Amino acid sequence: MALSSESPVNRESREKITVQNVSRAYDSTQALEGVSLSVGEGEFCCIVGPSGCGKTTLLRAIAGLDDPDTGSILVGGDPVTGPGLDRGMVFQEYALFPWRTVRGNIRFGLDRPACGCPDCEARARELIELVGLDGFEDAYPKELSGGMKQRVGIARALTPDPEILLMDEPFGSVDARTRDRLHTELLDIWAQTEQTVVFVTHDIDEAVKLADRVVVMDAEPGMVQSTVSIDVERPRERTAHDFVEYVAQIRAELGEPEPR
Ligand code: ADP
Repeated sequence: MALSSESPVNRESREKITVQNVSRAYDSTQALEGVSLSVGEGEFCCIVGPSGCGKTTLLRAIAGLDDPDTGSILVGGDPVTGPGLDRGMVFQEYALFPWRTVRGNIRFGLDRPACGCPDCEARARELIELVGLDGFEDAYPKELSGGMKQRVGIARALTPDPEILLMDEPFGSVDARTRDRLHTELLDIWAQTEQTVVFVTHDIDEAVKLADRVVVMDAEPGMVQSTVSIDVERPRERTAHDFVEYVAQIRAELGEPEPR
């Protein structure tokens, strides 16, 4: 895993992902319309918005899994023309292979999943340790909790040491306490790997907890409404004044009522 001595400020000032005027329609649904945004190198960017505002469509386009109708997406200055090992994707519903063990699923993220060379073995081992799954190498997905399955999903995405981690509501299916723990673990991994992260969620609290910057989207058509920089030191406490203020600001921008 590449470690750099550069300060986060220097890294973030370099654009890693550039989305320029991207539109995408499915039949009569305008999933994205004129979406532009940029994500700095090493930045943790969260995208929030109501269901159907095009978050997944945007993430899939950055991953190279879907083509925009118009506009362009650049990664490191180069146009995205398809999926690549420079971008790892983590899905909400884990997307694990039920017939493969934890080790087998994680190894699938390698360029050569069937390769048994010491380097590939060592890489799988390193990832199992990084996500805290020691002792579960030979377990099958059905034997794991939701949080453990998502650790496997994260490890698999990290296997080729991608520069970018794309996460689509990865913790949407786990309970609140596990989610909190996974937030801490993810931030630790991010601090170690210095990857650029784009994290989709509809949970404003989650976005404020994690992000350097939150991109707020509107639905019908899916557009970027605003971006909010979260200027709070980590670890962040949900009850802290600044945290509550940021959540209220984003909630107001989304037109969501205050919870009672
Ligand atoms: P979000 O992730 O914000 O919930 P999506 O990107 O999944 O939003 O979807 C944006 C809009 O595009 C929604 O109205 C959705 O129904 C529509 N959509 C997404 N994928 C498809 C598809 N494969 N076929 C038809 N409509 C789709």
